[in-house]
Amino acid sequence: MNRKEQYSIMRGAGSVLVKMGPCPMCHKLIFVDEEDCPHCGYALTEEERQHMIKRIEKNNRYSMAFGALFFGSLFGAVVYFIV
Ligand SMILES: [Zn+2]
Repeated sequence: MNRKEQYSIMRGAGSVLVKMGPCPMCHKLIFVDEEDCPHCGYALTEEERQHMIKRIEKNNRYSMAFGALFFGSLFGAVVYFIV
């Protein structure tokens, strides 16, 4: 599966947005663990990445609650790894 297919699947799913947020430059959805935006090539700073993660966390509060069992450990591990 290439990157483009991965993106269309993530968009289509609509519910699995826990790890995606808007690019600070072009505002298209990208994965938080991207180093560069695949749409505009903008290189994310660590600060912007953290900001994006916080925003995603807020937006997904309800889905996080429901998906806590599934995503909790995964998201926690990602945050722990980045911080
Ligand atoms: Zn971008």
